[in-house]
Amino acid sequence: MTNLPIRKDLIGRSPYGAPQIDVPVRLNTNENPFGPSPELVAELSKVVSELGSKLNRYPDREANELRGDLAKYLNSESKVNLTAENIWPANGSNEVMQQLLQLFGGPEKSLVTFDPTYSMYEDYCRNSFTNYLSVPRNEDFTIDKKVIDHALALNPDILVLTSPNNPTGTVIGTFEIDYLLEKFSGVLIVDEAYAEFRALGTPSAVARLGENPNLVVIRTMSKAFSFAGARVGYAVANPEVIDAIQLVRLPYHLSSVTQAVARVALRYSDQLQSQVNLLRQERDDLAVWLVAQGFEVASSGANFLLFGTFGDRNLVWEQLVEQGVLIRQTGPSDWLRVSIGTPEENLVFKTALLQVTNRTNGE
Ligand code: PMP
Repeated sequence: MTNLPIRKDLIGRSPYGAPQIDVPVRLNTNENPFGPSPELVAELSKVVSELGSKLNRYPDREANELRGDLAKYLNSESKVNLTAENIWPANGSNEVMQQLLQLFGGPEKSLVTFDPTYSMYEDYCRNSFTNYLSVPRNEDFTIDKKVIDHALALNPDILVLTSPNNPTGTVIGTFEIDYLLEKFSGVLIVDEAYAEFRALGTPSAVARLGENPNLVVIRTMSKAFSFAGARVGYAVANPEVIDAIQLVRLPYHLSSVTQAVARVALRYSDQLQSQVNLLRQERDDLAVWLVAQGFEVASSGANFLLFGTFGDRNLVWEQLVEQGVLIRQTGPSDWLRVSIGTPEENLVFKTALLQVTNRTNGE
């Protein structure tokens, strides 16, 4: 790739990222397909224009007002009682994870995940010189006591549990989280990027923070909040962890514009949540439809479905692109992942999939 004198372990590596292809139906990066409403857009414009004359100044380095608003949102969403001291926002949950690895990882440390899962965890480890380990999930992508025991036997310093998991959509049960909290004394990171899409009544790991000083929960505004372009993710943890993150964050890492627009979006949580309900329904309907067409579908609590199996998934993916539908080649080699779109987009996806796989629509 280069003759530059870069780090040896980066030579020949490719940057992370899904293809960004300009097609009419983009269902490949688990975004919310609904853009912000006109009222929200109007408020966003007003706030940004008011900020314009103040951009000569650095932002609030600690993003205190945004942290307070995020705490209020979580208190209502997950029935907890958190304050600004429990929250740490950054440019997407990607940046939060990188900060956590800079803080808790390092050359003598190891991190374990449950495979298949989000491939960036390996990159965060590489970038922080942390030893990356993983244990396989059960065949149906669930995690139980046996799988957890395998992970614990590796004696990791950090354990990452992703719930709902990307790319499978699998939700981890309360029993498994409690078992881990009881048996594991290292840093437990629960990545809840897709938490808002979980089935109603499923508790969030944020409810366990009080008794567990080494627990860190990650959330994001990129998915349910229709705010992927703004880049806002956050850690939820005990104040001691949040204070420690300050050691590794860059000064003024979160721009004034990001802080201000995120605060506006949070005021529209209820409006955004109504789209989440619709997406949840679309997900469940699409899963039923895929099964009816003879596909295997992983049980999902997120805004995407992993389905298969394909002898040549690359061919199916390419033919879907030709039909103007972009999905994702990720996870086990014979499965594909589709993000849930608007009802119209999902219909286009279904029609294209039937054509590409020569199935006839049984509806
Ligand atoms: N965690 C998981 C499991 C994800 O799938 C993603 C995005 N695909 C992220 C974190 C990162 O999200 P963001 O940086 O946009 O908050």
